[in-house]
Amino acid sequence: MSEFKLADRLSALPPYLFAAIDKAKAEVAKKGMDIISLGIGDPDLPTPEFIIEALYESARKPKNHRYPDYVGMLAYRQAVADWYKERFNADLDPETEVVSLIGSKEGIAHFPLAYVNPGDTVLVATPNYPVYGVATEFAGGRVEYLPLLEENDFLVDLDAISDETWAKAKMIFVCYPNNPTAATATKPFYEKLIEKAKEFNVIVISDAAYTEIYYDPDNKPISIMECEGAKDVCIEFHSLSKTYNMTGWRIGMAVGNKSLIAGLGKIKENVDSGIFQAVQEAGIAALRQGEPFAEGFRAIYKERRDVVSAALTKIGIKHRVPDASFYLWCNVPEGYKSADFVTNVLMKTGVVLTPGNGFGTPGEGYFRISLTVHNDKLEEAVSRISKL
Ligand SMILES: *Cc1c(COP(=O)(O)O)cnc(C)c1O
Repeated sequence: MSEFKLADRLSALPPYLFAAIDKAKAEVAKKGMDIISLGIGDPDLPTPEFIIEALYESARKPKNHRYPDYVGMLAYRQAVADWYKERFNADLDPETEVVSLIGSKEGIAHFPLAYVNPGDTVLVATPNYPVYGVATEFAGGRVEYLPLLEENDFLVDLDAISDETWAKAKMIFVCYPNNPTAATATKPFYEKLIEKAKEFNVIVISDAAYTEIYYDPDNKPISIMECEGAKDVCIEFHSLSKTYNMTGWRIGMAVGNKSLIAGLGKIKENVDSGIFQAVQEAGIAALRQGEPFAEGFRAIYKERRDVVSAALTKIGIKHRVPDASFYLWCNVPEGYKSADFVTNVLMKTGVVLTPGNGFGTPGEGYFRISLTVHNDKLEEAVSRISKL
């Protein structure tokens, strides 16, 4: 057998911080302990039936069996533009300001290839979805992390970024509603971000995957696309994954500045051939008729959130009650490090939590609970932790 050495870009990846947890999980499973995983950010609820029906019907059409266009069907891009108008009152030209994605992760991972040269600086708000940093490094860029702190409501402290840093930055990644902290953005925050980005000619990348997982219909998360000037400097990534329980379908979108959309399109044109059109037609159905179902899912998450929050309060675990996302960002009890606490809980109770530092250094001192399991399991999990 020949040995093949991995490319430097792979061997240079940071160590996988969940490795210790995975090992502990395997040990616990071997002991035959019942495992409850609160670690996964993947909805447990099924995709609504009408979306599946739309797929069946579309899959039967021979015209959908051929190569799709990598930018997406115009009808899909139109549905995205209409959805953004309805939900955020944002005007988007479906021809030039929307591109389809094979899940937003695909677009996020490819975007830096279009704009980052080796050595360029990319700012990443952290704790963060790991793809931002990895994609930057694959493109040869250098990541500079911006800490998200509780005292700033986990918003990027824009005033703390020096002019020198702004001047050398090529792009900045932000994510609201945030995974993992569950924080939401405010309009003044986005407006200031846009102003700074315009001043220093920096691309703003907004990851908005969780805008539809909210708990108060009178206080819905906003999109940066609602803000004046967003289309001058921003590209926003969004997805059908979390809103309609479609993580397995691989369909998302990028919207915003038309030259940034075209730049991403140039990469995609060379690496993929778009999304199966039947999936796009199902996506159109989801965007056009999915709202009542999304409302139902929100009600389920809200019940779960309230059950877990009450149980955590009872056992003295400090946490923020989220306004959005299906995560609870909790403080590790006094005297523990994130990884120690999470490993201890797992070994003694079989409950899997995610250590905050796995998302970046400022996540130390926290752990994340995902609300993607049934109420009964959530209650059982917290009750096991309380007996520790
Ligand atoms: C789940 C998630 C996504 C969406 O991923 P898809 O590829 O669209 O399924 C994007 N960003 C964050 C932060 C996420 O948690």
